[in-house]
Amino acid sequence: MTAMQEIDLSSLCQSCGACCGYSQNWPRFSVESDEELALIPSGLVNARQSGMRCEGDRCSALQGEIGKATACGVYAVRPEVCRTCMPGDAECAMARRKFGLPMIETA
Ligand code: SF4
Ligand code: SF4
Repeated sequence: MTAMQEIDLSSLCQSCGACCGYSQNWPRFSVESDEELALIPSGLVNARQSGMRCEGDRCSALQGEIGKATACGVYAVRPEVCRTCMPGDAECAMARRKFGLPMIETA
């Protein structure tokens, strides 16, 4: 993938946010160190300390309107699962389908 394609794909996320509103089980913690997790504001972490706090299925760090314009309020310190979901992959497609958004073709 070229750098130009990466820029185009990440800008897609800024008008999407579907994976951040897919499921309260989605933004869970996995490989993060205690030091990394400590950088996430505690009010945005769930009661079990196992992932991001969600309101319904929507991550509480998500700002904006899904499918229109969104941003992650903890982008620099977001969990690993959020970093690995890529526009056009299977999880992205599943999340976008939930919101009636078209699948992203990356090939
Ligand atoms: S669902 Fe896909 S396009 Fe939307 S924010 Fe997540 S990775 Fe980006
Ligand atoms: S932490 Fe950020 S990227 Fe991850 S689900 Fe929440 S809003 Fe989305």
